[in-house]
Amino acid sequence: MPGLAVIGHPVAHSRSPEMQMAALTELGLAGEWIYGALDIAPEDFEAEVAALALEGEYAGVNVTVPYKEAALAMADEASEAARAIGAANTLSFRDGRIVADNTDAGGLLRSLPHLPEGERALVLGAGGAARAAIWALVDIGVEVEVWNRTPERAEAVARQLGARAVAEPVAAEYDLIVNTTAVGLAGEDPFEHLPLAADSFRPEQVVVDMVYGEGPSALLAAAAAAGASTVDGLEMLVQQGALSLRIWTGAEPSLEAMRAAVHR
Ligand code: NAP
Repeated sequence: MPGLAVIGHPVAHSRSPEMQMAALTELGLAGEWIYGALDIAPEDFEAEVAALALEGEYAGVNVTVPYKEAALAMADEASEAARAIGAANTLSFRDGRIVADNTDAGGLLRSLPHLPEGERALVLGAGGAARAAIWALVDIGVEVEVWNRTPERAEAVARQLGARAVAEPVAAEYDLIVNTTAVGLAGEDPFEHLPLAADSFRPEQVVVDMVYGEGPSALLAAAAAAGASTVDGLEMLVQQGALSLRIWTGAEPSLEAMRAAVHR
């Protein structure tokens, strides 16, 4: 039975096993494939991933915090997206070789209500999730500006990925705003930590918050109240997970089954 898993540290909170098992069940593959969670300590990471690739029991893994960069570094082959972003969230094990991909980029684009080609976007953050968002958006011709708490990181990331750093963004000027910072994860007030005000949104905008918890985030609640379209982190989780599952199985998973599982 080919194994799949999410690997990270910690991973107990991850919704991926339930979501991916729901997709496998809907595809009629649940008897054939199994998807679990492996918590790997930092000192064991390289040896464990090498063993997973060699033993042949696992077809691949999703990679989460804090291993996305380390996962790419271990790959024998990597997609253009993974290489440009500098991180992998999907590894496939093929004949002992490790193939890296990054489906956070495609997952973000698929979670949007329309493709923002030619539009203006503000990406908040400069970590791994921001790099995936910036690369994906620049790749389809979006004009991207990047704000980060530590401005030097925004400048470095923007320079590398073809975007522009911005110190004091005016939120209403953007067609798309993507929060990739961890703000909100521990209940922080986004309007205290991010360069946005609760009344800075407008109806034609799309606002994405990659952070997810129980119910809509304070950021998305304010955006929705202003009439903007909103996309939550669970939708992006579903879309990136569906792309990963397609890479491993070759099958097209049911987004509805995956959404139902993450909202359960
Ligand atoms: P990361 O590399 O650690 O980056 C964290 C980012 O958050 C940095 O830009 C950091 O700014 C910023 N930040 C943290 N605390 C802040 C605060 N109090 N005020 C302002 N900025 C703050 O993490 P990551 O891998 O990019 O992930 C970021 C978030 O996206 C996580 O919550 C993760 O769960 C989520 N995510 C969701 C999905 C999904 O499918 N929904 C996919 C990927 C990631 P500094 O540079 O100044 O430290």
